[in-house]
This record gives sequence, C-alpha cells and structure tokens, in this order.
Amino acid sequence: MAKRTSSFVHTGQPQSAWTADKTNSNVPVYFEHEASKQARKLHQSIVKLEKEKRTLLGEMKALEARAMHGWTGMSRRQVYSVVMLGIIVTAIVIFVPPLFIVPFASENLPLTTLDKQTKLVSYLREIQSYSNIFLAVHGYDHKCPIDGSTGYEFTCPTGELSIEEINWRINAGIEIFKKCGLEIDTYAFPGQDYDQRVLSVLSNYYPTPSVYNKTNLIGLGLTGNSSLTDLIIYYGFKEYTWMWRNGVSQEQFQNALNQLKQDKPSLLLVHVQDITNQTLDLLKEYALIQGSAGIIRLDDVTFDSQVEATKKVVDIAMAYNVSLVLAVIPASPYAGTSNSFFSGPMINALWVISTSLFVFPIVVMIPWAFIFKMKKRKPYAKWNPHYPAVSIILPAYNEEKTIAQSIERSLSQRYRGSIEIVIVDDGSTDRTYDIAKTYADKHANIKAIRLEKNQGKSHALNIGFAQAKGEISVFSDTDSSLAPDAISRMISHFKDSEVGMVAGMVVVGNEKNLLTRLQQIEYLLSQTLIRFCQSSQKNVLICPGACTAVRTDIAKKITVTDRTVTEDADFTFSVWKEGWKICQEPEALSYTEAPTGLGSLITQRKRWLYGSLQTIAIHKWAARERNPWVLKAWLECFLSPFVLIFLVSLPLQCFFLGSAFPLFLLTYGLLPFTILAISGAVGIRLFNKGKKSKLAFLMPLYAAYQLMMNLLLVWLVLAFVTKRGIRLPRGGKIIHAI
Ligand SMILES: [Zn+2]
Repeated sequence: MAKRTSSFVHTGQPQSAWTADKTNSNVPVYFEHEASKQARKLHQSIVKLEKEKRTLLGEMKALEARAMHGWTGMSRRQVYSVVMLGIIVTAIVIFVPPLFIVPFASENLPLTTLDKQTKLVSYLREIQSYSNIFLAVHGYDHKCPIDGSTGYEFTCPTGELSIEEINWRINAGIEIFKKCGLEIDTYAFPGQDYDQRVLSVLSNYYPTPSVYNKTNLIGLGLTGNSSLTDLIIYYGFKEYTWMWRNGVSQEQFQNALNQLKQDKPSLLLVHVQDITNQTLDLLKEYALIQGSAGIIRLDDVTFDSQVEATKKVVDIAMAYNVSLVLAVIPASPYAGTSNSFFSGPMINALWVISTSLFVFPIVVMIPWAFIFKMKKRKPYAKWNPHYPAVSIILPAYNEEKTIAQSIERSLSQRYRGSIEIVIVDDGSTDRTYDIAKTYADKHANIKAIRLEKNQGKSHALNIGFAQAKGEISVFSDTDSSLAPDAISRMISHFKDSEVGMVAGMVVVGNEKNLLTRLQQIEYLLSQTLIRFCQSSQKNVLICPGACTAVRTDIAKKITVTDRTVTEDADFTFSVWKEGWKICQEPEALSYTEAPTGLGSLITQRKRWLYGSLQTIAIHKWAARERNPWVLKAWLECFLSPFVLIFLVSLPLQCFFLGSAFPLFLLTYGLLPFTILAISGAVGIRLFNKGKKSKLAFLMPLYAAYQLMMNLLLVWLVLAFVTKRGIRLPRGGKIIHAI
C-alpha cells in the first residue's frame, strides 16, 4: 500500500524514496509514517470524491429519467381529475337532454287515438250493453299537457290549464268516444286531484252531474245497478294492487287481502297494467265480499294489447254481478305498450351506452392530451445526442411506379448517423427489382433483395430485418413517404433503454377530395388524441406499417407473422408482450396515399378493422393488463351491435315522432354532437404541422363517416364471431381471413 501511494506523494525525492523502499530496508520510520498519513488523507479524499461522483451520477440519472419521463408523466392526481371530469361530463350529457326531451316529447308526440285500437273498440262495443258494465272517459290523453306527467291531467304541477284548454280536452275525449260508437256512462278523472273549473265544464256535457264534496267521495255510495251517470272522482278509494304487474310475494298478497277484508271498500281501483293472476284472485275475493254492492274501477284501458286483461276482469264482474267501470283513455302518446316509448328500458340502455361510449373517452382524452402536450419536453435528446446506425426496410410488391421515390426519400433523410436501405422485393412481376437494383449498384448503403415468389409483406419484413445491420430498423410502405426529419425525430426516443419501438405520425398526403379529407380528420384524431395519450404511458398499441422504428435485435427475435391481416398491429402487441415500452413521435411525419374512392376505402378498412379484431383475439393476455385502450377496443366490439340497433331505431323513432323527429333528434343530438365537434377541432389543432384547422368545418360530415365505419365494424364483428371471415386482396392474391 505504501509503495503505491508513495508514487503519488511529492516528497521532494519520490524516485529515491521509491527505490529506497524497494531495495533498502533502512527507511526512516518518520518518512513511512508521514507518507502513509498523507496517503491515507488522499485515500480519504478519493473515497469522498468517488462518493460525490456516485451522487452526481445518481443525480444525472434522475435528471435523465425526469427528462424522459417528462414524456410519460401524468401524476396520479391528474389522472384522477381527468377521469372525474370525464364521468361528470358524461353524466351531464346522459341526464340533461332527457330533462328537456320528456316534456318536449309529451308535447309533440303524435297521439294514438282509441279508434285505431280496433280490437279494443269492438270488444267495448260488444260489452257496453251489459247492465253492470259502465264505460268512462278517462280524461283526454291521461297526462298533463305541460310536463307530460300522468296523474295530473287537469292540475298540472307546473301550472294550471286555462279554462279553454280544460274545455278542449274534455270535449276532445268525448268526441273520440262518439267516433268509436261508444256510449259514455260516466267521466273518470285521471289523477288524484282536480280543479273546480273542471266540474263546471263537465256540467255542460252531463246534464245533471252530482258534484260531491270530498267527504262524500270516499267510495261512491252507489249500490246495485243504479246508474253511474255521475262523476266518478276518487278521493281515498282503495287500490290494493298498485304495481303488482311484476308479481308480489304470497305474504304481500295475504296482507293486501287482509286489508281488503278489513276495509270492505265500496269502490275498488285497479289498473289494467296490474292484471295478473294474483290481482284477479284479489278481485274475486272483493267480489265475494261485496257482491252486487261492489264497484270495481279498471283504469287505463287503452290498447288492443289490453283486451285480454280487460276480458278477465269483465268475466269476474259478470260472474259475481259486481259493477265494473272501465276507465278508457281516448288518446295516448304511447303505441302498443303500457310503457312509454321514451322510458322504455331498451331506449334508455341505448342512450346510456352510446353516449357514454362516445363521450367518456373523448372527454378524458382531450385534457389528457393537453396536459401531456404541455409537459412534453425533450431536452434530454438535445444534450445527450444519440445517433445509432439505422436500417430502413422497404418491402415492395409490384411498385415500379413508387419505389424510386421511396428510395430517394430514404436517401434524403437528414440524420447524423449512418443509414442503410434494405429493399425486399416480394416476388414482383414488374420492374420493381430492376429499379431497386440500379440504386443498389450505385450506392454502397443500399441493398436490394429479390424473393423468387410472392410470400406476403410479413415475410418480406422478416427477410429485411434479418439483413439489417443498423441498431434501429425503420419500416415504411412504398406508398408512403417519410418526411426528411422523420428518422432523426423517432430515434431520439430510443435513448430510453426501455423503449423498444416508436410509431411515427401518418398523415394523408393526397388531400384531394371529400373522402380523403375525412380520412385526414380520422388520421389526425386517432393519432393526436388516442395514440398521443397512449404514448404518454409509453404503451402505444398499434405502430403503423407506414412509419415505425424498432430496435433491430427485437425485430430479429420477434417474427412478423401473417396470422392476422394487420401484421403491424400484431407485431406491436408482440413487442409489448416482451415488456418493451412503445411510444409515438407526433412530429415524425409520413405522408401516405389514402384511398380516394369509397370501394377502395372500404377494402382497406375491412382489413384494418378485421385485423384489429384478430389482434385483440390473439393477444387476449393484453385485456388482463388492465390497459384502458385494450379494454376500450374490447368494449367497442361487444357494444358495436348497439350502433346497428340505434340506426334501425331511427326510422322507428321517425315513425312515432312524425314531424317532431328533427326537433327530437336535435335535442338529443346537440350535446353529444357539440362534444364531437369540439374534440374534432381540438384533435386537429393538436397537430401543429401544417394548417389543418379548416378541416374542423367538416366535423358534421365526419360524424356520418364515423357512423359508416361503425356499421362496417358491426358487420366485421359478426363475420368474426360466426367465423365466416372476410375475403381480401393481399399482395397479389385474394385471401380468406378468418
Ligand atoms: Zn289512469
């Protein structure tokens, strides 16, 4: 130890000290002592410096990590707030429009009048002559014309009706009865309350109505078959079977029966919707108790579908000679069922599912993308530059028209590291290989490989990866062209040793017509919002075949397969499965030629959508990763049929709503549509390369475009689930994908 440190120590004669030490044992003790003291001191400072070095290195690592995680980072609090915001906005969109639509619909819905219920009318005509059966007009349409609530036809809770309105409604109900050829025995109020003016209006129609005061009205004191040509207003008369339509327990039934036996009401109210075997049993018990002194009032007789239930009650009335008042609704906003069309569980489910599916992700994604965009910083790549060798892989099949341009584009990449270009000609039958060969002959960094027969893009890519010498491989299509700075921008992400793959940003290069512009919106939205947010977690799900960089050693290990029709999606999932992080570089542009016609667009989308289905089905493990994007994809597949149901229900709604339909659509559609339009504009805005803001004006058309794509998805989900599969042109041939 002394020997080594002594060489550092400047003692005035280090060499002699050194040699003396070595050859001569006659070394003064004080020197040894002094030297080791100094040595120890120095050693201590070295230890100290090393410690400091470690701290500094640690700090640097932390800074590096922070610089890189500036890309990743959403704090837990931000995630929670964004999700909360999503939930709140979605809830508003779900619950607010119905608040407006229900009164609106009740005002505007065309009514079904009794004369259209032919089965019911003919039955009523048949029984109206029976001495103990009485027909009653049950209001006009059984609901408050102001807010649509039932039970308050003449005393709407939100405001009283004018005397003209009362007059009109009573008259209209009576007129419909006359039109049906039905004799009116009495008037049966819908609802539990009435306005004194109603009685005066009614007295115009019924010559000598007996107006009862409340105390007299507890059970009308009518007996036997006396005429019921009186107003039947119910205060306190009994109904034991309300909401029995879904059945009740034996205990509930027994309780109601005991109560009935105790009360012995002179008038029993029952709703036709509640006619079940249990209700009929109770009615029989009532008939046994009261006999001809009893009166049953059967409310809400409205539709043909209620004839059977009505018949059963009539049979009891006949058998026990009980008086039966049939309270018939002359006009109704419902059609065919006792449930309102708008409160139907199906419509509700459709509404909730479609809005939350559509609104929630968007409301979460927009602030997410904005937070991420604000945080996005890349100083790391700047002060710690990284220029690994890059191989550009160009698989080509019959691309004599575009191959030269693709090669030129690759050659003109502005990248400080070295670039090699590997063209894999997948058995083309045209001049593709010859063109590639001339470039290869001229440039040392271009390699042209010819495959004897066409084996598909995935195979060509594997060959290309096998030949690649660069640390990073970039693959692209020959129908897309990389921006000159695309590669250098993508490469910066690989500084993070956990990143295995980087997606570029694919934009439409041929914005020629409406269809390509709509596709441009779609490309921008799916990448600036969805993929951008995925990238904030370094978990991009699909790296597009048109512009992607991957570590070559990963690509050599994971083969690209043709088990799906979208090898890029399948490949990305496989890389993710190996534990690699996958990001997106939104500024690495690749201009692609989008289909200009509807036919070719549908062919392309059939492949994309079907390929995605195949991919998530193959990579079922991904659903267990609790990745929100995978769950979203699964959910979209499961719920896609609802879109179809929704579309089918549109003409149905149109039929029910008539002229009110456009207004209805507007009321329901306004909020979701506004959100779609805003998200569209925001998504387009997030793309800061080139002026695309004008595209936001196409958002209304984009909604229709999306609907079309959803329909396509429904069809493909069906083809996938039934294992019928689809036929697709791939490479040179038509393949049948299952
Ligand atoms: Zn009623």
